[in-house]
Amino acid sequence: MKSIDCDCHASGTSAALAPSASAKGKGRRAWLRAGAGSGAAVVMAGLGLRTDDAHAASLTQAQRDALTPDQVIAQMKKGNERFRAGKMQSRDLLAQKRASASGQFPAAVILSCIDSRAPAEILLDAGIGDTFNARIAGNIANKDLMGSLEFACAAAGAKVVLVMGHTACGAIKGAIDNVQLGNLTGLLDVIKPAIAATTYAGERTSKNAAFVDAVAKSNVQLTIDTLRSGSPILADLEKKGQIRIVGSMYDLSNGVVSFDA
Ligand SMILES: [Zn+2]
Repeated sequence: MKSIDCDCHASGTSAALAPSASAKGKGRRAWLRAGAGSGAAVVMAGLGLRTDDAHAASLTQAQRDALTPDQVIAQMKKGNERFRAGKMQSRDLLAQKRASASGQFPAAVILSCIDSRAPAEILLDAGIGDTFNARIAGNIANKDLMGSLEFACAAAGAKVVLVMGHTACGAIKGAIDNVQLGNLTGLLDVIKPAIAATTYAGERTSKNAAFVDAVAKSNVQLTIDTLRSGSPILADLEKKGQIRIVGSMYDLSNGVVSFDA
């Protein structure tokens, strides 16, 4: 870990704290601000109290480190509720950019599909510096993806790995249809075990939206299984309670992100 040269600081040295501690004004409060710290603060978050600051801003290290994985998940759920209600937090993105330029302290890493209709940060109402985001067709995990997640959690201190599938996923349909296309063929092969793992009594084709979505759900679990078996680092962090690995599905039709936690 020590050989990694980055602007992230899992261990929280005083030197690492300096950049965020010096950040001032609205540039350094948080998406998860109200979830940080005491139980009382969490209750305030539950009430959506943010009238003191019209501009939500990036997480500080202290705010991020004070959060438990469960609190991070709770705040992501609230972010999706704001998205669905059309009441997303007001953000000064330039202020967030300035405040986070010297260091980042994201609370979660999201592994989701490249689908243009499923941008995780928007769906969860997160801003600059709040979440790491890994996007790949069909939200699969391979070694490079796992390396990215290990960086996010073990080196940079993220508390939650959220694997997000979605309805009407083209990659899932492609796997069901056994599409052959250049490098995509190999990616779809990673999804195919999810088809076999899906118990479904009706028509098992890509024309059946319910079956496609059932496979997408199986695929989220398959990805989580791959993370646990393929990354001893993530599995160990999860066993220690330092992170949670959680599945979810985004419904394109109603905007709901359903969490398996
Ligand atoms: Zn997709």
